[in-house]
Amino acid sequence: SDLDAFLEDFAGSPLPDRSPVTTAARDWKCDPYPDATHRYGTVQRFLSDAEDIPRICIERLKQSKLKGMGGAGFPTGLKWELVSQETEPVKYVICNADESEPGTFKDRVILEQLPHLIIEGMLLAALTIGAEQGIVYIRHEYGPEREKLQTAINDAYNCGILGANAAGSGRKFDIEIFVSPGGYILGEETALLEALEDKRGEPRIRPPYPGTHGLWGKPTLINNVETFALATSIIAQGNDWWQAQGAGDYAGLKFFSISGDVAEPGVYEVPHGIPIAELIARAGGIKDDRPLKAVLPGGASSNFLPAEHIDTPLDFDALRNVGSMLGSGAVVVIAEGRNLFDLGLSITRFFRNESCGKCVPCRIGSEKAVRMLEQVQSGALDAASLDIMPELSETLLQTSICGLGQVALGPMNSVLERFPQDVPAGKETP
Ligand code: SF4
Repeated sequence: SDLDAFLEDFAGSPLPDRSPVTTAARDWKCDPYPDATHRYGTVQRFLSDAEDIPRICIERLKQSKLKGMGGAGFPTGLKWELVSQETEPVKYVICNADESEPGTFKDRVILEQLPHLIIEGMLLAALTIGAEQGIVYIRHEYGPEREKLQTAINDAYNCGILGANAAGSGRKFDIEIFVSPGGYILGEETALLEALEDKRGEPRIRPPYPGTHGLWGKPTLINNVETFALATSIIAQGNDWWQAQGAGDYAGLKFFSISGDVAEPGVYEVPHGIPIAELIARAGGIKDDRPLKAVLPGGASSNFLPAEHIDTPLDFDALRNVGSMLGSGAVVVIAEGRNLFDLGLSITRFFRNESCGKCVPCRIGSEKAVRMLEQVQSGALDAASLDIMPELSETLLQTSICGLGQVALGPMNSVLERFPQDVPAGKETP
């Protein structure tokens, strides 16, 4: 059925097909390197002109207020600065390309169409923190994107952008690609480090953080694909350019994957802070002109927002203020006619399935939640039994060591709270 197809796509098991990528190519708004022959020119010019590269990179990133685009939103300039201050001679730069959040496919498009921005961003990071080795940790299903990236890396070596005297800097910098063994949790940055060290891919307890004790215990800078791409543009073109890109009081650009009930799902690069409604309009509006019911603004980890929040700016703080989050920049649009309980259950199952099992509350709590929800759906349990869900969710939030357990029950709770009409009655009480 239509709903099954929608849920199947949404649950993230099959990858989105190629049509979103085609849409993205057509609607591309900002490519700082439109001509392939000049693709490395801007950064090369920057490197030859700049006298104090680490200071300028950190300064520009801090001025821009760029935040990490993998979901956590940590300030990028501060992260680069903290790792640069570590005195350990061996450091690493890692690009997290293990994009696995359901509904998220923007990094895939950047990897495929703008891989040079990632390479340049990693190079600038390496020169800033003092690293000689970079690793792109890529999702195992991203085969064609890996090939494109490898070709760009080979080009970079041929151009002298990478290698013994990277971009004429006098410093060595190499990049290799590591294919993730597979699994949603392996994109969590400390599980990623465990996998790189050939261990079981489970998140580490923090602190210490990767910035001080990362790969092989050395200071490690980890950013995701989009963050490196944006950092390159900011450093090369300056903060004034970045400030001029945003919408209203917001600065900069942002890539969004938009999917669900829109006419033209895909990846859009838009001014940071545009309202949800404007992004939906850019994606062709809601399919078949149906009324909007809800939006997931930050992928499967975010809370459902009712249609009344359609004018909320797509920004970290603005979305937090209305009880959701920007997350990974995956906007899922849901039209009237969908049942959000079914969708929420699909998300809860996803997190239950992907829990690595290290923390008992996450392992047991997510299974308990799925079982109860399924019983209510089948009529074997009274819906009133779900009153314990907020408490269960709070327990996971307080006791899970990584983001998966902390958010696992949030989306379903937002359905129970904001869309009670979609909750089945469950077992009738005599
Ligand atoms: Fe694993 Fe869940 Fe604990 Fe994260 S919260 S480490 S996924 S058990």
